[in-house]
Parts: sequence; C-alpha cells; structure tokens
Amino acid sequence: MPFIDLFAAPGTRLDITRLVDSIDGEPFVRGRKVGEFSEAFSKVLGIADCIPTGNCTDALFAILKCLGIKQGDEVITPAFSWISSAETVSLCNAVPVFADVDPHMYVLDVADVEKKITARTRAVIAVHLFGQAAPVAALRKVCDKHNLLLIEDCAQAHLTSVGNRYAGTFGDAAAFSFYPTKNLGAYGDAGCIVTNNEALAEKMRRYCNHGALQKDDHIMEGMNSRMDTLQAAVLLAKLPHLQDWNRQRIENAQHYCSLLADIPFLKLPVVSADTIHTFHIFAIRAQRRDQLQTYLTGQGVETIIHYPAALPNLPAYSYMRHQPGDFPVASSLQDELLSLPIYPGLTLADIEFVCQTIRTFYA
Ligand SMILES: *Cc1c(COP(=O)(O)O)cnc(C)c1O
Repeated sequence: MPFIDLFAAPGTRLDITRLVDSIDGEPFVRGRKVGEFSEAFSKVLGIADCIPTGNCTDALFAILKCLGIKQGDEVITPAFSWISSAETVSLCNAVPVFADVDPHMYVLDVADVEKKITARTRAVIAVHLFGQAAPVAALRKVCDKHNLLLIEDCAQAHLTSVGNRYAGTFGDAAAFSFYPTKNLGAYGDAGCIVTNNEALAEKMRRYCNHGALQKDDHIMEGMNSRMDTLQAAVLLAKLPHLQDWNRQRIENAQHYCSLLADIPFLKLPVVSADTIHTFHIFAIRAQRRDQLQTYLTGQGVETIIHYPAALPNLPAYSYMRHQPGDFPVASSLQDELLSLPIYPGLTLADIEFVCQTIRTFYA
C-alpha cells in the first residue's frame, strides 16, 4: 500500500487535453483562470482577497517582505514544522526564533511563544500542522498585546476550522500550498496568499509580479511568483471536491483511532477543542518507531516520518547552537511520530490491514 495515491478518489484524475482546451486562447501565465480561481478560493474561505503564487514558500516570503520584516527583526516560528516557515524569515535577513509545540496538538505552545518575545519581535508564524488548527485565538491576543503581526501557514490546513471560521482568516495574512500531495493539490507547484487587508493585498499582488499590476507599471521591485493558468484550471476543477475529500480523511482518521485505541504503545492524534482537523497527515506517536516502520515496510505498508528532525536540530540551523533539550517536545516528536496512509480513496480494508499489522508488531 502506497503512503499516498493521488488518483484514488473520484475527481482527482483530470483530462489534460480537456484542461488545455478549457484555457484555449488564453496565455499560459496570467490567464483568466487564475483570477477565477482566486475568486472561487476566497469565496470558499470567506476572505476578501486571494493572490495566487508559484508555491507556498514564495507566498510566505512575499507576506513577510510586504509586511516590512527586515534585518534585525525577530519572527517567532514553531520548532516543529516544514522548513518554509523558518527559511523565509532568514530570506528577509530577519531572525527565526523557535518556540516549542504543544505535546498533544503539535502546534505552537502559546506559553513558549510568550517567553520568546523580545523588543525586536515583529511577528509570529502559526503553522496549522498536519491539519490541526494552531491556537489562533490565543495567539491573536498575545500578538495584539505586544503589537505583533500574526501570519498563518495553512499549507496543511485547507478548510481546517476554528469555531465557525476557516484557518487563514485569523492572521494579518495567510499562505496556502497546492503542492500535489496537499489536501487540495495542483499538477505541479502552486500556492496563494489570502488576506482581508486590501492595501496589503495590492502590495503583495504587485510584489509577486515584479512590482507591477499592469505590464511595465513597476512602481517597486518584486519577485516572479505566479500560479500558471493550467494549474489554476486544475485547482478550479478540484476545488468543488475539497470538502468531500476532507470528510473522507476525517472518517479514515476515525477508523484508525477506533481500531488502534487499545494499543498501549501508541499515542493517537487528538483534536483541539472547537476545531475541525482536516488530517493532511495522520501521525501516531509510536514506541520503537523505527522498528515499527521497518516492519510495516516489510508487510507492504509505506509510511513516512514527518519530520525526522525538529527544525532547530537540522544542520541548516546548527549555527544557532541549540541543544535538543531546548525544545523537548519537538525533539521527542522527531523520534516518535510515524505517518500512516490517510488519503481520500483509501479503503476501510486498507485501514484494517494497517492496524492489524501494527497490532501484530507489538504482539
Ligand atoms: C508544503 C508546506 C510548505 C511549502 O509549500 P510549497 O508550496 O511546497 O512551497 C510550507 N509549510 C508547510 C507547513 C508545508 O507543509
């Protein structure tokens, strides 16, 4: 069984010839479908503006740049995440300051965020990791109290919700990824920025297109990060299925949780109160994790480790001279988490097989 099958669920396999026909006559870059996707996605999220970009890493970078993050600034970001939420801070010549994550939810620990605030702190990046909502309401309060910007990394959290609002609508701006394996995936790289701040939206839209809204209207320098017309067409065709695919992920997670509940060597995911977890990743905390993974591989079950190293423990950040003990939760997650297949289209029989194999391993 593969870790992910991108074409297992109805609606995932699109006819490329028909897609090309559907954009017929339009430019491959800056075609009409890009604007149509931007409108459709902002409508689904309930947010004013959506700026399609080349990928989510660029989206995070553009947000930080356009919010004025610069040399000497500090940005607090989770110690347990994909590297984009830290490297884009460095790309602005600012300093990523890591905060540890909650031992049950795996998203930012608000108390540790508060401890890391200094006179140079300008912003906090909340990552909704694995589809679990970060504590955005509490973080918003902390940010307002200390006059900090709040940025959301929603790369793993399409339609994750907190109360009656979607992740991505709590911060000053949020970045989404449509990398092929994400809950809403393109057929290549793609991403977007969303915000309710109209002036910021215009600046970011310019920034991602060489500082210009129209051809040759460069009132500032920027970068080249745009969503292709073809990727927009793919995403427009897939967007109507997103809620259903998320529902399947959630049901798969429920099956895993009920079938694995009595195995004492595991800690299963918990969902933060008053939120909907969209299970981009279904990660269990397992004793003897590496042996379990090897055993599952031998039985034909592919698993992945998200992530084998907490960010402060990566060679990329060795210059900070952190010790694993500085981030005890993140450092234990790197040794214990194992991600099981969760994709829409996975069958109950598949899930039962994975669970039975895990049970046999521990027996
Ligand atoms: C995938 C991912 C990104 C990067 O997205 P790209 O579109 O590949 O740049 C950023 N943050 C998180 C949490 C991710 O999972």
